[in-house]
Amino acid sequence: MAQRIDGKLISEQVRAEIAAETAAWVEKTGVRPGLAVVIVGSDPASCVYVRNKERACAQVDFYSEKYELPEETTQEELLALVDRLNHDDHIHGILVQSPLPRHLNEEEVVLAIDPNKDVDAFHPYNVGKIMIGNHAFLPCTPAGVMELLRRSDIDVTGKECVIVGRSNIVGKPMAMLLLQANGTVTICHSRTKDLAAVCRRADILVCAIGKPKFFTADMVKQGAVVIDVGINRGADGKLCGDVDFDAVEPIASYITPVPGGVGPMTITMLLRNTLTAAQSAYQNR
Ligand code: NDP
Repeated sequence: MAQRIDGKLISEQVRAEIAAETAAWVEKTGVRPGLAVVIVGSDPASCVYVRNKERACAQVDFYSEKYELPEETTQEELLALVDRLNHDDHIHGILVQSPLPRHLNEEEVVLAIDPNKDVDAFHPYNVGKIMIGNHAFLPCTPAGVMELLRRSDIDVTGKECVIVGRSNIVGKPMAMLLLQANGTVTICHSRTKDLAAVCRRADILVCAIGKPKFFTADMVKQGAVVIDVGINRGADGKLCGDVDFDAVEPIASYITPVPGGVGPMTITMLLRNTLTAAQSAYQNR
């Protein structure tokens, strides 16, 4: 039976460390790390994410600002706000919650964020830095997965790592981080031939496709580490991952549950990035 990786507990430990580091740093410099979160429109899931980010900031005593802009906000208005935040010394991290309403150009907004305040690590400058292994910030979800592996004493070196999903926010950066940790990495997607066979090769299997309970027991090698990034609603209306947890748990050596696995780590890594941004801004002032 697999050992469950308790993302909620690990996340609380990391947040406590961030809170302690922040308190010591504020004492020394008088500067509180500041995060600005911008949301356009009222997508219910985005509203929940933004509220959770606000709460997390309060938990570690960061300064935070929330901008709730109406659905009809223009590209110019949004870019003007980003520009103002880029020049605001109290703000070290800027996060524009996606998805944006369809009339807005998300790529242009990401490009407008000062890369030094890009705590989501979505700006091509930061993406490039990750590629060459000289990062300032790591994208939050893959960074959260790496932290879960580290704190569970799972060594990636030489392991067969299979990532299913090739999105810019999860799959691709996840592959880079596992590669930098000396894993032997394979990335799969919807066109991969015989996905089950490729998955069965994995010592570490990262599932990030957004399909409820897609990964079944026959896709997992005995003793594999299974990381479930997916967040879905199952047929019963309950939250579930991409992995058929009950079927895979007896086969895996470690497994992350949904909820309570990767999810809580994502916002925690956002806090880590914001503290890093504040520290570098102070050093480069
Ligand atoms: P995307 O929809 O952007 O990407 C999904 C990827 O999965 C694509 O690369 C797609 O392949 C691949 N895929 C889809 N169906 C299959 C299939 N049947 N077989 C193989 N590959 C397939 O999703 P995201 O990366 O944004 O998110 C993935 C999941 O992770 C979602 O459930 C999302 O909610 C969750 N998530 C969780 C986070 C957390 O904090 N825990 C944070 C971010 C996301 P192709 O490219 O060929 O289309």
